[in-house]
Amino acid sequence: MAFPTLLRELTYGASHLLFPRLCEGCREPLLRQEEVLCLSCLAALPRTRFHHRADNEAALRLAGRVAYEQATAFCYFSNGGLLQHLLHRLKYAGRKNIGTYLGTQAALDLLETTWMGDINVIVPVPLHPKKERLRGYNQSVWIAKGMARLLQVPLAEKALRRTRHTESQTQKNREERIHNVRGAFEANGAVLPPEAHVLLVDDVLTTGATLEAASAALCSISHLRVSVCTIGLAGF
Ligand SMILES: [Zn+2]
Repeated sequence: MAFPTLLRELTYGASHLLFPRLCEGCREPLLRQEEVLCLSCLAALPRTRFHHRADNEAALRLAGRVAYEQATAFCYFSNGGLLQHLLHRLKYAGRKNIGTYLGTQAALDLLETTWMGDINVIVPVPLHPKKERLRGYNQSVWIAKGMARLLQVPLAEKALRRTRHTESQTQKNREERIHNVRGAFEANGAVLPPEAHVLLVDDVLTTGATLEAASAALCSISHLRVSVCTIGLAGF
């Protein structure tokens, strides 16, 4: 082994002993090539495989409300499940790398589709600036970063702006959620490519009210098409 390689191995070994990186699922130490989840927890993620079916549950939930080309969700989201834990750590524990990790995993699925090749820009659903200041970042941006890097598609973080601070959606029913976010977004076409086919990215699809309002703002731009990918699909 060459000396620099040996030194790198020793340094890695020492830091791993002092600060072992643990799997977010089972809390066992991660192997060097593993990130966030060990291989068995990664395999246990409840993947939907929706990207293989145009008439999937995520697409049907948005049908008639979002003028999408394709819509998909990476995993099923359930209360107390592994995905809820990961998204909670991403949103409230500052673990941005969980966002890029989930974005990368979802993007690996998207690579298997034919329609992904037509996407020319990725747009994350924004938080209201006040909320983003409080949290320090927007979790959907970190998911979108992971996707953009793997798919080699540019990210347009400023394409959507949340103009109205909306109340939390968690305690609201479907009608209340739609009313709550209607008109809450504004699109900026200047940062998008001409004839954009946007991949609109969010963390969880529940009623679809947020995605409906965000895509309505995007679709005010002429010749723009939208596809949607979220990390989780929640029941409601
Ligand atoms: Zn694990």
